[in-house]
Formats: sequence, C-alpha cells, structure tokens
Amino acid sequence: MRRTVYMDANATTPLLPEVMEAMRPFWMEHFGNASSIHQQGQRARTAVDQARETIAEFFGCHPAEVVFNSGGTEGDNTALFGLLHPGDHLITTSIEHSAVLAAADRLAAQGSITTTKVDPRPNGLIDPMDILRAIRPETRLISVMFANNETGVVQPVEEIGKIAAQTGVFFHIDAVQGAGKVPINVSRIGCHLLSISGHKMHGPKGIGAMFVRKGTPLEATSVGGSHERRRRAGTENVPGIVGLGKAAELAMHSLETGAMHRLASLRDRLETGLLDRIPGTGVNGAGAPRAANTSNIWFDQLEGEALVIALDLKGIAISGGSACHSGATEPSHVLMAMGVDKNRARASLRFSLMKTATDEDIDYVLEVVPSAVDRLRELSPVLAGTAG
Ligand code: PLP
Repeated sequence: MRRTVYMDANATTPLLPEVMEAMRPFWMEHFGNASSIHQQGQRARTAVDQARETIAEFFGCHPAEVVFNSGGTEGDNTALFGLLHPGDHLITTSIEHSAVLAAADRLAAQGSITTTKVDPRPNGLIDPMDILRAIRPETRLISVMFANNETGVVQPVEEIGKIAAQTGVFFHIDAVQGAGKVPINVSRIGCHLLSISGHKMHGPKGIGAMFVRKGTPLEATSVGGSHERRRRAGTENVPGIVGLGKAAELAMHSLETGAMHRLASLRDRLETGLLDRIPGTGVNGAGAPRAANTSNIWFDQLEGEALVIALDLKGIAISGGSACHSGATEPSHVLMAMGVDKNRARASLRFSLMKTATDEDIDYVLEVVPSAVDRLRELSPVLAGTAG
C-alpha cells in the first residue's frame, strides 16, 4: 500500500504539535515587543527569558551565554566574521556546511585571513591530531561541526576542545545537525561558540541560538539596538524563540528517554535491509560514530537524483547530497573529501529519519527501494560498471 514516508530530517523537520501550541499565543495575543516596559512587552520578555533558560540547560551553560539569532547560517557566519581579524589563521574542515566554508572563503578572498581545511579520514572522521598539526602562532579559531549533515558522522569535539584549550585557540562548533540527536555539554567540550538551528530539531524555521562563552570577544555582526546584550541587534522573534525553547525541552526529554536508541535500531534495520536486498551498495561513514537518524548509502550503477525522483513518485522523500545544494549536479563535497569516487558520490543518497519514524516506514522503504533500483539500473546500462 502506498504511504508517505519523510526521510529527509537533515534538510528540515516539521514542528511537533507541542511546539506549535507553545508558539500560538505569541503571534496575536501576546504580540508585545520584548523591549517594551508595558505589560504586553513584559509578557514577551518573560517568555524569551524562559526559553533562554531552557536553551542554557540544553547547552549546559549560563543563560547569559545564550544568544538568539535566525538559525545555523547566521550562527556559523557570526562565529567567523565576529571573531576573525586580518592576519588571523582559521582551521576548519573540508566537510563543513557551506555556511562555514563560504564565510571562510569570503574572508580569504578579502585577503583578510588564511584558512586550513582539514580533510577527514575515509570513514568521515576528522583526526584531532590533524587539527593540532595545523595550528600556527596566528591561529585564532577552530571551527568543526558536531554531526555531519550528509553522513551523520559525529566528530570528536571533546578531543578538539582539549587541543583548543591547550593551545589557546577559540573553538566554534556547528551543532546544527548534532542538536537533539547527541547530548551537548559545552563545559565538557570546552568550546567558546556553538550554533544550533530550530528547524532541524522540530522547531520553527528562521530561528536559532548560539552559545557564546562569557568573555569571548565576539563582535556583533548586526548592530543597532541593545538586544541580546549587544551581541545581536534586532527585535526578538518571540514566537520563534518560544518554539525553539519548546523544541529543546522536547529534545532533552527524547535524549533522556532513549529515543535515539530506538531511532538507531530503525536506521540499522533500514541499512542492513537495503544492503542485503540490493547488490552493489554500501554505507558512507560506516564504522564511524554516527547520529542515530542518518544513513548515507551508495548504489553502484545508478544516478542518485534519478532514484530521488523515482522514490518521490512512490511517496518517499529522501535527498541526494546536502539539501542546500539540491538542483546542483556537482557530487557532494563531503563524500569527495572522504575520498569517495566521483561516480559513487553521485550515486549516494541520504536517508535521514525523523524521531517520529516507525517500523512501518522502514518496511515501506525496504519494499519500494530495491525494485526502484533494479528498474533504474536496467534503464541506464551506460552507467554499468562505471562506479567503483
Ligand atoms: N550547518 C549545518 C551542518 C546544516 O546542516 C545546515 C542546514 O542544512 C546549516 C548549518 C544551516 O542552518 P540554517 O538552515 O538554520 O541556516
């Protein structure tokens, strides 16, 4: 029977009903500006303060170290633009999201900074020793992601945090894909900055938060009013902030109650099921620690985008490469950096499960994908034998 199965959670997730309910009064009833002193304003201020406390608990930091912003891209951009000065050296990785890579490239093009992009090992893991080896006297910032958006590989951020502390270098983590899937504790990691985004964790789009360790000399990238302790000017997105707070509260509850173990076993069943049923398949990032919801699978002798379209017609939503690049035909920069062959990278697809995924979802995908792959392989003999 035809179903609708959404397995593109790393692109975005829907609001959970509780998030929607928490936000609802703040669009029309409690619409005040959190900077106003009247009752409407104070009602909004209280809601923002409460959400700040929840996010502080989510990060493991003090509420004064939480800055609300518009999402992951802004957090990543702010870490680089707000901390780096002319002459500084940045260490990042070749598998970051474009929100980090493009910011680094812009600063480099302006002649302002130099950048080292550390490559991962073939399993997608960054070796902390490669970070250590890249450090120079003028290195000011290390920016490494928590979980990769394409492979789900979880990076050794605690070890990198130790290196940053020992060498006196600031450390930013893009935790957009880790948040809600892996517990975050900024004091244990020892990072100075960390970015998250609401819409990747069943919160609203266009809202995010950043941990900014007390004393970190981060310059605001938007100036004007004195919002967010002068770290990010602009009237607060109160409904968004309330929604992010609720999403973080639910995420903490899910992590505490073992939701990720359940998700990992569903993901593993999906993976072994596909690999057993379809010859010429494998998992990118196999063997590395991975976020419980993500599986990046290669299908030899197949054009990945063709399978995305074929599955869409059957009601299954998955993604080839990272969502932000869909439409582009370039193979994934993440897989290429892992040393995956170009054809195999093009034939790789990302299945990213929502935490609400069910056994029936997995059954349906296991029923539909093998025959769809068979059909496409028969239709495109040109590709036969090209991937390796
Ligand atoms: N960082 C990572 C790892 C992501 O996956 C994304 C979105 O795909 C972003 C940053 C950008 O986040 P946002 O969509 O909130 O701007």
